[in-house]
Amino acid sequence: MTQKSCLFCKIVKREIAAKTVYEDERVFAFEDIKPEAPVHILVIPKRHIEKISDLRDNDVELTGHLILAAKKIAEDKGIANSGYRIVMNCNRDAGQEVFHMHIHLLGGRKLTWPPG
Ligand code: 5GP
Ligand code: ZN
Repeated sequence: MTQKSCLFCKIVKREIAAKTVYEDERVFAFEDIKPEAPVHILVIPKRHIEKISDLRDNDVELTGHLILAAKKIAEDKGIANSGYRIVMNCNRDAGQEVFHMHIHLLGGRKLTWPPG
């Protein structure tokens, strides 16, 4: 299922260009246009899901698949040993700007904690 006006659905359909780093039948990953770290990749389900709170009980496998894809990409990018962070912003107070659920995979530098 896609949503016509959704930016990330358009990236999945290659209607908008992005630097793809990983793709399989359910997951798509591409470089963030405004990277906050040397590695900043967005890992998204191909299916349009707005946000974490819209996940259903039967999305358990998809959700695990997304995290495992992020783990695999971190290994491919050579940041598995140095460390990385995955972040998912849900809704406005968390700063979600694009309402197609996504994991931010961040690494390649020391990341500060706690987040703002
Ligand atoms: P959010 O704030 O929703 O968690 O994160 C949205 C992310 O999408 C931001 O890090 C932003 O830089 C990225 N982004 C927004 N528009 C585009 C785009 O057109 N292409 C790519 N590759 N990333 C985008
Ligand atoms: Zn979408």
